Amino acid sequence: MPYYGERAHRLGHVPTINNAEIQRELSLWEASAAPAFDPEELEKLCVPVSALPGEGLSEAVAEVVTVDGSDAPVEVTVSYPSITVDFTRVACSILDLEKYRSAGKGRFVDQATLNTSHREYTFDVVLPGSGLRAPGLGELETWRKTLDRAFRTTVVNDVSTLTLADALLAMHGAPGSPSPAVLLTTCPTDNCRMFDTGVAVGPAGTTCPECGIDIYLSDVFRSHQDYRRSHQAAMTSAMSGMERLAMLGNIEHMFESETHPENVLRSTLFVADGPLATFGGLGPLKTPTQNYLDALSGFAASRGVVAPLLVGIEKGGEFADHANMIRDHIPVGNVMLLTREYHNQVAGRMSDNEYGDTNYYGRRFLYRTTRGGVLVITVPPKSGVNPYSGDGADDFDSYPSLRPVCEVLDDLYTYRYENAIIPLVLAHRAASLPRGVGHVALRRAAQKILGLPYTTQIRQANLFS
Ligand SMILES: [Zn+2]
Repeated sequence: MPYYGERAHRLGHVPTINNAEIQRELSLWEASAAPAFDPEELEKLCVPVSALPGEGLSEAVAEVVTVDGSDAPVEVTVSYPSITVDFTRVACSILDLEKYRSAGKGRFVDQATLNTSHREYTFDVVLPGSGLRAPGLGELETWRKTLDRAFRTTVVNDVSTLTLADALLAMHGAPGSPSPAVLLTTCPTDNCRMFDTGVAVGPAGTTCPECGIDIYLSDVFRSHQDYRRSHQAAMTSAMSGMERLAMLGNIEHMFESETHPENVLRSTLFVADGPLATFGGLGPLKTPTQNYLDALSGFAASRGVVAPLLVGIEKGGEFADHANMIRDHIPVGNVMLLTREYHNQVAGRMSDNEYGDTNYYGRRFLYRTTRGGVLVITVPPKSGVNPYSGDGADDFDSYPSLRPVCEVLDDLYTYRYENAIIPLVLAHRAASLPRGVGHVALRRAAQKILGLPYTTQIRQANLFS
């Protein structure tokens, strides 16, 4: 890594290029990205949405609930070791689809129409980035304790008392019957022996039977593992986890507050930013999330309803890049089921890799909208089916929400941004933390509250990172 402002010598590359060892190493590789795909094979994986089951279901959808988050590490001092404060904002955007539709479906969306059909709820969480600790605690303990307090005090929307902690307990239970506690199988203390049977931790927390430290409900996130790698990793993981809890909390709120939850569930589309999957420290949340959604779709099916209508949309990444590359081979209005082999090819994995099993609670499809754009989506399977393995995983019929989801996405597709739909653009805007002047104001506020000197000269390299 160069020092800030350092420039390499103009001819610095010459010895590298001429190095025989480097030339030999390069000759051993081949490009794994962008493998060639046979257009005829691609089309075999496609089905017109109009041929899928679920005709008419999309007409009942009246509201789109979208959750998105953003984070900003703010460096508050130039002294060493540096001090950073992490600001996170999660936005829940609610679009009234009937109002939006009634205003007509133009090529470009009228801002005034959007303003009247859209409302949003946001919550902000501040976490100690680096160089900060509460009295008597280390930096990691301060981070964990602060995250837990945020979980217990942050509500998932403005009409509910359900907190992020409640959502986490709901996720580990079933719709309408949250688990009283979550089983934790690793201790946040470095080198503490893993619990043999797990330790149940509820909202009030507990202590580790081995090392005696305080254990919090939010430790289920395992953000201590990410934290040890980097503050940025922990913050990104915490934000991603809070997005998922906000989404699940909104679903759970509907379930708990309605006499006939199936009616509100069939008329609501939930949109998540990114695939329906958990990565890094959040990995252990995949199974409880899948079980919760499975129970919910089972409940809905018993009432003759297809729900939840939940979709994850990938704006970037290897599958979004791939979708753009092959877009013209997917007929307009068709949805393409990506086989596991196909996933492995795109992701550059070995052909026997069990793609999706560890992280995904939804199945990935490519959808060529009726307007010609392409979206990378994941939707959960019906009750009793795993999205990537076992009976029914590769059948279109195992995804009964696919047709209504695609049909609603058709209405919401926008040309203004690549791989985007209007609700995600709105949610992203609502979640955005300020840059420029606003960023400086955040830093100033942090400096003031922490009693640190007011400085404006922060290293430029980090200013807008
Ligand atoms: Zn321990």
